Amino acid sequence: MEANPTLFADKILAWYDKFGRKTLPWQLNRTPYRVWLSEVMLQQTQVATVIPYFERFTQRFPTLTDLANAEDDEVMHLWTGLGYYARARNLLKAARQVRDKHRGEFPTDIERVIDLPGIGRSTAAAILSLSQDQPHAILDGNVKRVLARHRAIEGWPGQKAVETRLWQLAEINTPASKVQPYNQAMMDMGAIICTRSKPKCGECPVSDDCIAYAQGRQSEFPGKKPKKEKPIKACFLLLLRHDGQVYLHKRPGVGIWGGLWCPPQLDNKRALDNALLPLKADKAPQMLAPFRHTFSHYHLDIQPVLVELMTKPDQVAEQQGRWYCLSSEHTIGLAAPTEKLLSELQRLG
Ligand code: SF4
Repeated sequence: MEANPTLFADKILAWYDKFGRKTLPWQLNRTPYRVWLSEVMLQQTQVATVIPYFERFTQRFPTLTDLANAEDDEVMHLWTGLGYYARARNLLKAARQVRDKHRGEFPTDIERVIDLPGIGRSTAAAILSLSQDQPHAILDGNVKRVLARHRAIEGWPGQKAVETRLWQLAEINTPASKVQPYNQAMMDMGAIICTRSKPKCGECPVSDDCIAYAQGRQSEFPGKKPKKEKPIKACFLLLLRHDGQVYLHKRPGVGIWGGLWCPPQLDNKRALDNALLPLKADKAPQMLAPFRHTFSHYHLDIQPVLVELMTKPDQVAEQQGRWYCLSSEHTIGLAAPTEKLLSELQRLG
């Protein structure tokens, strides 16, 4: 049975008035640019992690045009540590598209917003509703969880039929006015009350007609993705050191660590031997402690190999790169494993 959508929205809005978050940095001076930036940063990332990144970004790039005119390396550097780097690459692409096709004005028509790289239906709806109070329903991970539990929607939201059902519910429940506080409230509800584990049903404004709560089945919704073992890949990362500097090269724009600076990656022992052959090393290559880095779709077992060089080669493994001073402050985008390895090298001395 459907819940009464007007009552649902009223209860959510009344709760938001009392308990919702209203002073997060992107809630002050809500421009489409600032809301867009925060929405992209918040994908798969906690609010507390995002705040310092958001503040650094908006200080350095106060307007969308400032971002569009930035160097790729500087943007990737400011994103270092936030993960899911495709978000930063798309952000930059989209900013340049807005500068070139929309004269630097963020579009206010939802279809045009969805056309921008890296922006899906829910993110576009969030940007326009939160910055302009436009009446669009949102369906991010938090909202999916609240709705799936409240109406006990079976199945994994990655399945088309389940997602369609959740969008229907999201649209039915979204009020015609006060969409900005309502959408913000739904995000807050998912983040603060209807949390992934141990939801605070006793404090929830819609607990009186929540089916999952009534049946004690909160942990069953939303349905889990069917399990598939992640494949395991392996590689060597070649750490060439000379006179306090380490050799890094820039990864291509697509693929893992796209656009970031990394030590050369070699996928097998033969490729490693070929890369080592022309180098003039002080001593035998040293195998450092191996570690695993997990991506969304596979595990990568990394074996770092340290080589102390007598002289700098012109190029390594047919790639042009740069020599990076270990003691200087980082000003380029580095993947998390690269940062970890550079810190370790500094520690080893
Ligand atoms: S009652 Fe519990 S499970 Fe239901 S929506 Fe509220 S917090 Fe979520």
